[in-house]
Amino acid sequence: MLTIKNLTAHYGAAQALFGIDMEVGAGQTVALVGANGAGKSTLLKCVMGLVRPTGGEILLDGKTVTGSSPARMVRHGLALSPEGREVFAQLSVLENLQLGAIPLSLAKAEETRRMEEIFARFPKLKERRQQLAGTLSGGEQQMLAMGRALMAAPRLLLLDEPSLGLAPLITDEIFSIIHQLARAGTTILIVEQNAARALSASDTAYLLAGGNIVEQGNSRDLLLDPSLRAAFLGAA
Ligand code: ATP
Repeated sequence: MLTIKNLTAHYGAAQALFGIDMEVGAGQTVALVGANGAGKSTLLKCVMGLVRPTGGEILLDGKTVTGSSPARMVRHGLALSPEGREVFAQLSVLENLQLGAIPLSLAKAEETRRMEEIFARFPKLKERRQQLAGTLSGGEQQMLAMGRALMAAPRLLLLDEPSLGLAPLITDEIFSIIHQLARAGTTILIVEQNAARALSASDTAYLLAGGNIVEQGNSRDLLLDPSLRAAFLGAA
């Protein structure tokens, strides 16, 4: 579904991505793991149209979409739940959710239908739908960021660090929802610093270091790889 070819990205003179090649097949969950500053978020932002690549190509179903705007990417069937959640603190839960579908100009009835689906998945958001997003707990804000992305009914959901700063029990809850979404057919590209979690939750994985892919393969194999375990999973 998503093909990335020789992608490069810069912030001013500083190069963040050095020729990334990657493939995300329809229905797959693919993890992107690596240390702080490896370029994981930059790669997701390039895919979503938030950072303009300086070279290479991004293809969706074989057609190039390199350099498309984020709104256009939403219309192509992508949605991003950003790192740090970035919910609009001064807007209500409902208003935050509505923002997720703006590029699609949905009819009111369809917007309401999608919102009900999201409330069925995240009952806490329903209870708190009139509350300002800034008053939610970290876990609830993460659910809201995911719910906002799901309002676009994406074919490809991009998740940037969904477990960041969350307690283990809430992280379990978030990963169980990711698993349900994958089972329902959503293709998922997930960025995580928690490599063990991401590898356990995905089919294939790419390991990014210094803006390069240094390892890729079946997630289960990578999880058991001794050198990888020593270097990235904090185990010998
Ligand atoms: P993290 O988990 O810390 O977000 P990451 O793997 O997602 O790490 P990126 O955020 O993609 O890494 O950062 C890759 C490189 O690009 C880093 O060297 C970072 O300092 C730099 N970078 C990221 N965003 C910007 C920006 N807006 N302006 C300048 N440099 C940036």
